[in-house]
Amino acid sequence: MGERKNGLVIAIDGPSGAGKSTVTSRLAKRLGYKQIDTGAMYRAVAWLISQTGIDPGDEAQLERFCGDVDVRFNCVNGTRRVLANGLDVTDHIRTPEMSLMTSRISALRPVREAMVRSQRFMGRNGGVVLEGRDIGTVVFPDAELKFFLSASAEERGRRRFAELIAKGEQVTLEETIAAVVQRDHQDSQRDLAPLRQAEDAIPIDSSGMGVDEVLDMMESIFREKINRTGTEE
Ligand code: C5P
Repeated sequence: MGERKNGLVIAIDGPSGAGKSTVTSRLAKRLGYKQIDTGAMYRAVAWLISQTGIDPGDEAQLERFCGDVDVRFNCVNGTRRVLANGLDVTDHIRTPEMSLMTSRISALRPVREAMVRSQRFMGRNGGVVLEGRDIGTVVFPDAELKFFLSASAEERGRRRFAELIAKGEQVTLEETIAAVVQRDHQDSQRDLAPLRQAEDAIPIDSSGMGVDEVLDMMESIFREKINRTGTEE
């Protein structure tokens, strides 16, 4: 610790729909940290693959594609955008179909290697909150602060359902819960970097908790850490 010039690396891992995105962006704002939504990066890659006709089963082709894929974040008029090979893909990557496709694509080694490399680079100086599935276990096993955010499958399904309906997607609650469960199963059963709580992660079950309550808990753990180690001015 101490070598990262901008602050700590904070990892927030957990299954889909646990509230990671909201919590990550609000925690980053409170602390004046950068935020990195690693799920959006995998979604962007999955979208590019679906658009360019790359065969994800063709290892050589996939290696070539991943060798120079470029995913980055940009802020336009205060909103965060995801750029994949220069294209703004933000409005295309959050459909139920893309969620399931991303879960399959993210299990492939060349895809993971490229994204992990890029995430380590973006977070190397600290002062960053990264959300994902494998941040505390694989991307930054040395992160100074790790949270594992979960909630019951029903609650996560209900939250995802409300988000999708608000965006005008035609889905039912039952199929949304089923999709969340299927995605968690795929994400936690895969061979590479499966969804798993790091041994030194602090578990938070957000079922029945409000966002502010979760944030206050995280922030006080952060402050305690800073006071104990004196890593931040
Ligand atoms: O977090 P989000 O739901 O946007 O993530 C989409 C998918 O990307 C996940 O279901 C998972 O398959 C994959 N992912 C991953 N590793 C991460 C973040 C996301 O494999 N660090």
